[in-house]
Amino acid sequence: MPIIVQKYGGTSVGTVERIQAVADRVVRAREDGNDVVVVVSAMGHTTDELLAMASEIAVAPDPRELDMLLTAGERIAMSLLGIAINARGCRAASYTGSQAGIMTDTQHGSARIVEIRPKRIFEALEGGSVVVLAGFQGLSLSQYEITTLGRGGSDLTAVAMASAIGAGVCEIYTDVTGVYTTDPRIEPRARKLDVVSYDEMLELAAAGANVLQSRSVEYARRTGVRLHVRSSFEDEVGTWIQEAEEPMEGVLISGVALDTDEAKVTLERVPDRPGVAATVFKAIADDAISIDMIVQNVSHAGATDLSFTAPRADLPRVHGVMERLVKEIGADSYTIDDDIAKLSLVGAGMKNHPGVAADMFDSLAGEGINIEMISTSPIRISCVIRAADGERAVRVVHGRFSLDESGSSPEIPTG
Ligand code: ASP
Ligand code: MG
Repeated sequence: MPIIVQKYGGTSVGTVERIQAVADRVVRAREDGNDVVVVVSAMGHTTDELLAMASEIAVAPDPRELDMLLTAGERIAMSLLGIAINARGCRAASYTGSQAGIMTDTQHGSARIVEIRPKRIFEALEGGSVVVLAGFQGLSLSQYEITTLGRGGSDLTAVAMASAIGAGVCEIYTDVTGVYTTDPRIEPRARKLDVVSYDEMLELAAAGANVLQSRSVEYARRTGVRLHVRSSFEDEVGTWIQEAEEPMEGVLISGVALDTDEAKVTLERVPDRPGVAATVFKAIADDAISIDMIVQNVSHAGATDLSFTAPRADLPRVHGVMERLVKEIGADSYTIDDDIAKLSLVGAGMKNHPGVAADMFDSLAGEGINIEMISTSPIRISCVIRAADGERAVRVVHGRFSLDESGSSPEIPTG
């Protein structure tokens, strides 16, 4: 029997009624003659609520206890769905991550999967059951402790299990109908994409598109699992995420993303000598702060400003590191500016077309929007701009590259 893996996000299992609707869909897939593995997130905002309770009790809750707490969210969703499927006369059994053999390292809060031992999952399927699996969690291989896989980690559970049991395709059910050229709440003319390559999806996710956990896309790329992102409320075909096909003639850009969760950090008047950047970024990495753009200015009189962007959520730690660094390397001071947004243009086609960056900058200039930092990859251009300009910037760039026109073959910019 073909195996289908379906993952339902928090909104899709947000209420008892929605869990009932998910159960209906699962039973249909089963009756169509498939072995079905369903991965669930915690209901609605459960994870945030549990986190909030923990941080009322302690500023930095014990990581082991926090993972114990958070994994309870998925456990509620999985058992309710198990009950709902069984109530429909279809056999189902729910499993925690540890029961399902999702083995991880010991890093509480952001554990990595090191191995999957899907013995019980195969047994359940062979016994004719639908498997309901709690997302986001595993068991540490060396200590047998309960771990979690990072926020949004149910996507990773689904992809990893799909790969381990040879499913080939993993359906990601969510509250939108697929991956869009940009956030439709910002630009109503945004268009659903039929296909996005793994690389583009990774860039979009890093650029702030919140459809999929980045790690799950990396895992899918590495293992060749195709993802189908689609709505749990409607039946229409969603967006396929897979290996890039032959580049379609003329299709340049897939999407525009806006990230408003970052801040710009500047170390002022850093001595310009070998080893300083290494010292700075090693200290930042040691505190597990993942920075994104880096800009170093031309040096004047042996000193230069060094700026980078970091997640706002990490700012308390950034302050600590910067205070230490200013003294250690003999910089003047540091500043943090959290009134910024990062605008990114992503498209596999830009690789072979010079002029895309110029066109993007020109469209921003036409709106009087100032660019403060720029970074690029072969398939992405990102600019830091003022936060207040963010949504306008999305609309103007989206329009400039004709992303609203379906099957668009935008004019190749002449640069
Ligand atoms: N419930 C977890 C979270 O909110 C995992 C997930 O939803 O994928 O991050
Ligand atoms: Mg999610």
